Amino acid sequence: MDDWTEPGAFEVAPGVHRIPLPLPMDGLRAVNVYAIDNGDGLTLVDGGWAIEEARSLLERSLASIERKVSDISSFLVTHVHRDHYTQAVTVRREFGSHVSLGIGDKPTLDLIHATDVDEDPHTEMLRRAGASALAEEWGDFTADSTPDLSIWDYPDTWLEEDHQIPVGARTIDAVSTPGHTQGHFVFADQAERLLFAGDHVLPTITPSIGFEPVLADQPLVDFLDSLAKVRALPDMQLLPAHGPVTASSHVRVDELLAFHDERLDLCRAAIAANPGTSYDVAQQLPWTKRNRRIAEMDVFNSALATLETRAHLELLVARGEFIRELVDGAWVYTTA
Ligand SMILES: [Zn+2]
Repeated sequence: MDDWTEPGAFEVAPGVHRIPLPLPMDGLRAVNVYAIDNGDGLTLVDGGWAIEEARSLLERSLASIERKVSDISSFLVTHVHRDHYTQAVTVRREFGSHVSLGIGDKPTLDLIHATDVDEDPHTEMLRRAGASALAEEWGDFTADSTPDLSIWDYPDTWLEEDHQIPVGARTIDAVSTPGHTQGHFVFADQAERLLFAGDHVLPTITPSIGFEPVLADQPLVDFLDSLAKVRALPDMQLLPAHGPVTASSHVRVDELLAFHDERLDLCRAAIAANPGTSYDVAQQLPWTKRNRRIAEMDVFNSALATLETRAHLELLVARGEFIRELVDGAWVYTTA
């Protein structure tokens, strides 16, 4: 298939269909949800974003395989991001489907529901990362964004540690893979060699790391550990949330590990040349496949890049390669 965002329901294995749903105004373009025939109805891995376009396309795509939205008995949601979680909530409200989500994402949901937060938490993270002008812009950017709480209800089940979930005649391994978010799970049907990878392993882009309203101590360490965990599973077809299905989870995990090794080397070189903040280093690094610079990027992507760089520098602090010192409210990193 040339364009993975093309609407429809595409069989990836017997009883399993990939259904891309739209993400208007989003660089990712679409999110794949996967419908698994569970004998009585459907189990969906991820739900899509709770918007009218996604709802009507889900209906039409399911109709093409003679199914209805009301057939969805359960959702296994890989993580709390809106394009994965929120439509599971709205479908549950209509049809009573059961929704599961990793417990590591609970602090993020709690924060969405908190009424006493007057500043988006990323604003302070950006200041600490040495990006004070960007923090100002971020503050303006997020000032009016009051979330619609009705699409952020809590799940029925919190997934805790690794365990097996029966889905009809199948056994699905729920594997905790913190990193992209702290509560991220992947789901593996090892008998059929299918890895429902969410945003943990993406085929054409690298998942964002270190960008969460409630930040883990070491998001990159978590992510690399989770990649090693998935690498230790048998090789499977990669069924990602964004991008086409590919043949080998191992091949892509190896590429992601190599990518982060290379980024760590670039961070070492930048700090060896000049001690500086996460923002200083992020400005020197190339971003995206087109090697763009932060100066050419919008507020959102500049913030992603700055906080991902922070995750790399913090890993090098944890490994004893860097030391950091708070200077005028921002962490400055130096080679140890
Ligand atoms: Zn995500």
